[in-house]
Amino acid sequence: MDLLIVGSIAFDSVETPEGKVDDALGGTAVFSSVAASLFSPVNLVAIVGDDFGKENLEFLEARGIDLEGVEQTRGKTFRWACRYLDDMNRRETISTELNVFADFDPRLPERYRMSDYVLLANIQPSLQLKVLDQIKNPKFIACDTIDLWIETAREELEEVLGRSQLLVINDEEARLLTGETQVPRAARRLLKKHGLEIVVVKRGEHGATLFSHEGIFVAPAYPLEEVIDPTGAGDSFAGAMAGKLAEMRDLSLEAMKRAMVYGVVVSSFTVENFSLNRLRRLSSEEIETRYAQIREMTGF
Ligand code: AMP
Repeated sequence: MDLLIVGSIAFDSVETPEGKVDDALGGTAVFSSVAASLFSPVNLVAIVGDDFGKENLEFLEARGIDLEGVEQTRGKTFRWACRYLDDMNRRETISTELNVFADFDPRLPERYRMSDYVLLANIQPSLQLKVLDQIKNPKFIACDTIDLWIETAREELEEVLGRSQLLVINDEEARLLTGETQVPRAARRLLKKHGLEIVVVKRGEHGATLFSHEGIFVAPAYPLEEVIDPTGAGDSFAGAMAGKLAEMRDLSLEAMKRAMVYGVVVSSFTVENFSLNRLRRLSSEEIETRYAQIREMTGF
């Protein structure tokens, strides 16, 4: 079952206490589609500039990511720069250059319009809506967002939430979105107000919690001894979760829980190196080993 993903394709400049990279391949669409492609074919909707090298497109294509929906146009690819503070739990954005994203008007190839599974990775909510408007009868829509859109595009973001079944968000964003200080109450409000079926709250090194109308499920983070670069952890979490759901063709609560643990596992690999460097050489055996270790640690 193909999964449609929309998001950003970027060149990231990232500095962490462990080192730095300049103009490395990144973006929410890239992290999430590479993670999803570990489980399911992906149809990608995004935009790049004429500075986006063929080798990057070939890398994505080789992962089973369909690029017919990726527009290449004159101008520069989206660029983003950030710096992590000492404990890697906090980062500051140094710059965001929208470049070709500023005028992006996504047009879905005809065959993408029948997609059953959709992941709206973090990007302007207006673009997420433009993509949703072109999909005929989706079965399952997952979405992600960041504080920037909660603060600057709340109305459009709420429309996205109202059309989605799953929201993947971090604890700070859940508080900002609802004005609640306690995450369980924030999640309950989000479920109720927007008619969502599932809210997954990511808590970095403390794991992730799944809130549904039936109850709560908690997964720990994989206990890593070394983190090199947390960039893309959230996107690869959401991508792996959506990709696993598309692979299982199962939207039951049990399937959501399993898929969330795969999100925890894949994002634990993402942060072991800069950019996509760890995901590029990640095998299914390594994924299954960590999945089994989490089951053993938690007894689930
Ligand atoms: P994460 O670490 O999972 O929050 O995601 C980091 C990725 O998000 C980086 O690769 C950035 O290129 C991308 N990104 C950061 N800000 C934005 C934005 N405003 N719109 C789209 N993508 C963004």
